[in-house]
Amino acid sequence: MTRKVLVLEDEASIRGFIVINLTRAGYEVIEAEAGEDALELLQKNGDIRVALLDIMLPGIDGFEVCRRIRATNTSIGIIMLTARSQEMDKVTGLMTGADDYVTKPFSPAELTARVDALFRRAGGTIPAPEKTPGEIVQPPFRLNTRNRSLEKNGERVKLTQVEYAIIKMFMENPGKALSREEILDTVWGRDYFGELKIVDVNIRRLRLKIEDNPQNPTYITTVWGFGYKWGF
Ligand code: CA
Repeated sequence: MTRKVLVLEDEASIRGFIVINLTRAGYEVIEAEAGEDALELLQKNGDIRVALLDIMLPGIDGFEVCRRIRATNTSIGIIMLTARSQEMDKVTGLMTGADDYVTKPFSPAELTARVDALFRRAGGTIPAPEKTPGEIVQPPFRLNTRNRSLEKNGERVKLTQVEYAIIKMFMENPGKALSREEILDTVWGRDYFGELKIVDVNIRRLRLKIEDNPQNPTYITTVWGFGYKWGF
């Protein structure tokens, strides 16, 4: 069973984000920057089951690519990548032939869920995510609990032992509000008599290392008057 997915997106950073996350989810990703290239790649790879198509492209647009794919291929799953600024009425009207759409910016979890759903419908079995014991994978992060290291988008993030312990606690408790006391007890130990402030100091430093924008953190979010939450 092939796990091929095509991604048509002219913006390299977005395309890279999609490729990394779908690869992590176990797909083989074929990339195209222009509509014409995408159509050619689809001809060469008849076993592509899902295509993600950006709409605004330098050559023919995503709608046209969708139309041309559908003219010859009814079984492939098609997801349009829309921008928030695009008027949805217009987009859905033009989207005949597409199965689904995702609005940018989207989370890795949302992207993978949509692709999985179409892939399943197209008759494929969902690939098992690349996973090895001793790892916690929450794209874009991958925590290796054996050598105590963290990667973001495949790149190593240098952490102190305390920062590592905090991240591990977060990744083991996704979406759960953790009090500062709880973090202090787990990371520094119950015999530690320092101040709670040390938690905030370390969180601030951690945010500088892992957040896309530390001023507006999305991974480690603040739970006011209580503590912090790993925002997945
Ligand atoms: Ca574009």
